Amino acid sequence: MKTFTDFPMKQYNTFGIDAIAERLCMLEERDDFRLAALSEELGNSPFFILGGGSNVVFPERYRGTVLHPVNKGIELVGQRDGSYIVEAAAGEVWADFVDHCIAHGWYGVENLAGIPGCVGAAPVQNVGAYGMEAKDVIDAVHCFEIGTGNDCWISNDDCRYAYRWSRFKGEWQGRYLIDRVRFCLNEVFAPDLSYKALSSAVEGIRELDARRLADAVVSIRDSKLPNPKEIGSAGSFFKNPVVGGDKFQRLKERHPEMVAYPVEGGYKLAAGWLIEQSGWKGRTIGRVGVYEKQALVLVNRGGATGRDVKSLAEMIINDVEQRFGVHLEPEAIIIECLNA
Ligand SMILES: Cc1cc2nc3c(=O)[nH]c(=O)nc-3n(C[C@H](O)[C@H](O)[C@H](O)COP(=O)(O)OP(=O)(O)OC[C@H]3O[C@@H](n4cnc5c(N)ncnc54)[C@H](O)[C@@H]3O)c2cc1C
Repeated sequence: MKTFTDFPMKQYNTFGIDAIAERLCMLEERDDFRLAALSEELGNSPFFILGGGSNVVFPERYRGTVLHPVNKGIELVGQRDGSYIVEAAAGEVWADFVDHCIAHGWYGVENLAGIPGCVGAAPVQNVGAYGMEAKDVIDAVHCFEIGTGNDCWISNDDCRYAYRWSRFKGEWQGRYLIDRVRFCLNEVFAPDLSYKALSSAVEGIRELDARRLADAVVSIRDSKLPNPKEIGSAGSFFKNPVVGGDKFQRLKERHPEMVAYPVEGGYKLAAGWLIEQSGWKGRTIGRVGVYEKQALVLVNRGGATGRDVKSLAEMIINDVEQRFGVHLEPEAIIIECLNA
């Protein structure tokens, strides 16, 4: 295991925040994961598990240990009922994993092409895009338990995946270090075109295959979301809030043009629409702002700190709450700035 002190994090988070980690451990081998999980220091001081840093906001100085899986490997481990069983290391880049699957004829991840970050983080928030979620293809997650160093497989059911959520983001936060993920992928290409923007994008393609579908996904993404290499962001900063039927009807009466989708238990409102209607789209406050093309995305206008991002997020949450009575929750993880 390679360990560094006072490690510069700017290249390790897509927001491009110029943070320093007091200690960073790169986990490469299986034993690195076990040793890290057993490390006494983790019991005595804060720690954070970092994948590609595409869903986090760092404080200027992180006073603790950052565990950063960099293990590699994608392997076909079996076949079951018309499916390929594939294991991928936590440190693999998610977008590369998707490309690898397509190249090998393992289907089912095309709609998730181009999502930034690593394989190990995909189960944490159950990444999703264009009508698909990681839970649709994850079979099980292999983890080391922090404190005991014991390893185990956790089944799909046990993770209780929900919209941008799993138990890793809930009661299991800080409990497990994921070192690999097992996927169940289709032998036959069966495109999921339930998402309208995607079905329209591929309408003219005569022989739609997995590669072309993934390319269409990536090109829609590129037209809507900032490229982290050019503009710092964590993608969609807020989750789309879900409100009950009664509340939705009251909102709809006052705002007939409100964008919403029926879901179990009520209606999912488009957070981007709420933010845009509150006058935030394209605005800049100091070193941070709201992306011109998509109000759901907060961006680094240059030299932003974690505090800048946090206070902009709070302003937006307050405004949306006052205007619509709807509470927005960040999807991105704001690592507490107070201990900075
Ligand atoms: C431009 C852009 C577009 C995006 N589009 C989407 C999208 O379409 N859909 C979507 O769902 N998300 C999207 N995101 C958010 C982000 O890509 C995902 O949340 C991704 O899964 C984060 O991966 P990461 O490796 O960067 O994780 P990080 O940001 O490093 O960490 C995220 C969380 O996972 C935990 N974690 C990471 N690795 C491990 C591990 N090995 N073991 C245990 N815990 C771990 C971290 O502790 C943290 O809680 C986007 C982000 C950006 C910047």
